[in-house]
Amino acid sequence: MRPEAVEAMLPFLSERFANPSGAHAMARDARRAIDEARDVMACVLGAAPGQIVFTSGGTESDNLAVLGVHDRRGGTLACSSVEHHAVLDPVLSRGGRLVRVDEHGVIDLDALIDMVDGGTALVSVMLANNETGAVQPLADVAKVVREHAPHAVLHTDAVQGFSWLDVHELTSEADLVSISAHKFGGPKGAGVLVVRDPSVLTARQLGGGQERDVRSGTHNVASIVAMARAAELTAAGRETTVARVVALRDRLAAGLVDVVPGVVVTAAEIERTAGICHVCVEGVESEALLYLLEKRGVYASAASSCSSGAMESSHVLAAMGVPRDLAIGSLRLSFGYASTDADVDLALEAIPAAVERLRLFTAPATAGS
Ligand code: PLP
Repeated sequence: MRPEAVEAMLPFLSERFANPSGAHAMARDARRAIDEARDVMACVLGAAPGQIVFTSGGTESDNLAVLGVHDRRGGTLACSSVEHHAVLDPVLSRGGRLVRVDEHGVIDLDALIDMVDGGTALVSVMLANNETGAVQPLADVAKVVREHAPHAVLHTDAVQGFSWLDVHELTSEADLVSISAHKFGGPKGAGVLVVRDPSVLTARQLGGGQERDVRSGTHNVASIVAMARAAELTAAGRETTVARVVALRDRLAAGLVDVVPGVVVTAAEIERTAGICHVCVEGVESEALLYLLEKRGVYASAASSCSSGAMESSHVLAAMGVPRDLAIGSLRLSFGYASTDADVDLALEAIPAAVERLRLFTAPATAGS
């Protein structure tokens, strides 16, 4: 977490502990903090304060968007085949369909046009992918939806985009926008769903109606306050951070390609977020690679963090047509606002050494050896 976000949340875990739904002075103090956080989130997301719905994170926001719209409207659902499981699984659970992507992981707009019609209730396309960093052409998606699916709600999972992209501008055409605090230096377990018009969905979580009946549950005041602090710092410093981190990401990718034979940078030819350097390493299994890297203090991921542990290619790489042999050597290296040149130096030392070691062990024995 950003230190400023930690600092912002601490008073709400101690002396300012009241429940903002109460009627007394301490409750009003907590309510004011929530209102201020709501104003900040509205400002950075390009929404009105009344359109900000606080949730427990990206997964809840995505589920509320997909299932909430389907519960309200019925109809058919569609999403890209590279969505996070927090979108993919709810869409599939309601019989929704997946729109194919090209070899870079970018949605095929013609396939989207073929799939949607007047009966489509929701289209969900992420702003940036959590495994590869690939940025989707959201404005073009919005155009297709308005033209070919006039009754559809457009949802975007902007969880991976917030740190790196002008979310305010890029998501302006979306009716529903998900974000998650722990992706930009805020706490885990806090997020937002921007709901421009609450009549498009039905609440999933029923109870006290705290978030204008769209979402119930006692506010997580400390985390909401910390999320807002992290969000305003992220938005204010985004331009300089992105320029710095893109240089780090590109140095890491180029260094790996130079030194390690058989490294392929994923989605190299298209716009990607600064925060992800995804490569596939030929002839190694990423789980073994992760183990060796951890010993050197490099903490990486095989695919999306949620599906690490399974030795199959991720659904994202499979949808892009990456051959399984290459996909099982997938390595996602992530950056944050605080990443440094020294981090890249360490990775550039550790990864080639680990790959060489694994290849030595797994190389087929030659005659006479
Ligand atoms: N969507 C994307 C694109 C993500 O990367 C993640 C988390 O990794 C989520 C949704 C889920 O968010 P949360 O961890 O806040 O539930």
